[in-house]
Amino acid sequence: MNTGRAYIPGLYIHFPFCRSKCGYCDFYSVTETSLVPSFLEALSTEAALYRGEFTTFDTVYLGGGTPSLMRPEQVDALLVMLRGTFTILDNAEITMELNPADLTREDLRALYQAGVNRVNIGVQSFHDQKLQLMGRRHDRRQALSAIEEAAAAGFDNIGLDLIYNLPHQSLEDWRASLEQAIALHPAHLSCYELELKPDTPLGRKFGRGECAGRSEDLAREFFMETSKTLEEAGYIHYEVSNFAAGMGRASRHNRKYWDHTPYLGLGPAAHSFEGTRRWWNRSSLKGYLTDLSNRKRPVEGQEDLRSEELAMEALFLGLRTKEGIDLDRYVRLYGRDLMRENRHQIEEWSRLGLVEISGGHIRPTRSGMAVADALAMI
Ligand code: SF4
Repeated sequence: MNTGRAYIPGLYIHFPFCRSKCGYCDFYSVTETSLVPSFLEALSTEAALYRGEFTTFDTVYLGGGTPSLMRPEQVDALLVMLRGTFTILDNAEITMELNPADLTREDLRALYQAGVNRVNIGVQSFHDQKLQLMGRRHDRRQALSAIEEAAAAGFDNIGLDLIYNLPHQSLEDWRASLEQAIALHPAHLSCYELELKPDTPLGRKFGRGECAGRSEDLAREFFMETSKTLEEAGYIHYEVSNFAAGMGRASRHNRKYWDHTPYLGLGPAAHSFEGTRRWWNRSSLKGYLTDLSNRKRPVEGQEDLRSEELAMEALFLGLRTKEGIDLDRYVRLYGRDLMRENRHQIEEWSRLGLVEISGGHIRPTRSGMAVADALAMI
């Protein structure tokens, strides 16, 4: 795909270990942390198998799973390995997800010295009862302490993850959590609605009617309240779930997922994308280790996206962002003139206050972002 813009790929590392599983989580992770050294060795082999195909990255994202279960020396060695295998640009954004229970100030300082320059702390809630309900292994005190310690260790680019529409959570409770977050001045906030997937412990509880006090109907109200409260506090609502204290603090890595910039994902269950091709790794640590012991890429599947599929994705992802869809670029990349083909529909959205059409862009309003997935169905 010729995008007409120099896109530098991003590198995602899926660290597939957690100390214990949270009640709502369906990400791939295992609790056998004795396998961490074997995983790190296999990861090095996997990275080497992509040398040449991917050369340069300007973002690295250590996600999972719980990457903060790695010792700082292991993170240091991992970054040294990545720098020895690929070119990681000097100004690269290097993000690591942290569980508030895991690291001391010394650990955080060591991570900073190793080159991690952005941390994303999985706070999820500032209420102990809600944290227990979600099966998180940290409490409010540890969340507050992790944020303070990260700042004291030198991090000035700190993001917090929060979850809303929890069982028995009122809008007032949630507003109080947002106010608490704002008072801590994070550079970034990701606010997600709790998704109760049926194959998770919390989802099953909900299915059996043992976890009431939560309404899908409230989702929009939580969303609107989140956007309003954080924008009033000066944050930019730059994507449905993401807020930044200035666009310089928006996640450079995550933005690549939204505009078809190539990315390489290493580790079990990691996804990659380049050009028109998307591929994903096996969701099995054992299978991953076996493939790599045979120097084979642990790829489980791939798809080659047709231009109509890429166009639909770009529409879906673009309408979730404040930047919206650049209409000329869209024609150039995907061969579709949205204003000519869908003028009536788009003008109707504009009349309903769901989008704004200006400067050659269609941009979702706050109300439009609340229904962004439905907008993409044109
Ligand atoms: S720590 Fe994160 S990845 Fe691990 S179980 Fe909890 S939500 Fe899932």
